[in-house]
Amino acid sequence: MERLEEYRRKRDFTRTREPAGEKQGKTTPGHLYVMHKHAASHDHFDLRLEQDGVLRSWALPKGPSLEPGEKRLAVEVEDHPLEYGEFEGVIPEKAYGGGTVMLWDRGTWKLKGKPKPDRIDIELDGERLKGSWTLTRMSGKRQDKHGRNWLLIKRHDDKSRMEDSLTVELDASIASGRSMQEIA
Ligand code: MN
Repeated sequence: MERLEEYRRKRDFTRTREPAGEKQGKTTPGHLYVMHKHAASHDHFDLRLEQDGVLRSWALPKGPSLEPGEKRLAVEVEDHPLEYGEFEGVIPEKAYGGGTVMLWDRGTWKLKGKPKPDRIDIELDGERLKGSWTLTRMSGKRQDKHGRNWLLIKRHDDKSRMEDSLTVELDASIASGRSMQEIA
C-alpha cells in the first residue's frame, strides 16, 4: 500500500479522525466516485476517483465545471484511502487540511476510452453530478514542478444541463443532509 505513503506522512492520526487506510481485503476493483466540499484555509472541492485500490484525488479551487467546454483548475493531491469515501467531519484546525469536510456527492465513475498519462476521460454517475468530463494535465509554464496541475473540463453529453448554481447553492451533505455549519 505504498501509494498511501504520502497520505500517511502528512497526517497525525492521533489528532485527526480521518481514516489511516489500514483496511485490507478488498479484492474486487470498484469505481467509487466522491466529491467532498472542504472548508480549509481556502474553500474548495475535492474530486476522488477509485483507481487500483485507492482514491486518486484532485483539489478543485473553484469546484467542478458544469457547462460544456468550461475549464476548471484541478490540482492533483496525494492518493487517499478508499475509506475516505465515507469520511465527513471536522479535521482539527492545526492538523493537515484542517477544516470541515462534507460528502457533497458520491456515486460511481466510468472510464471513457483509453486512459493516458496526461488525459483521462470520465463519466460520473453521482447523486448530483452526472455526465462526461475530461481531466487533462497542463503543460508548459502553467504546470508546477511536480506536474500536478490539471484542468477539469465539462464535456457535451446527453445528460440534462446542470444548473450553474448547483455547487454554490447546494450546502447539504448527500450522506447526512447536514450543512457545512452543522457538520462543524
Ligand atoms: Mn481538500
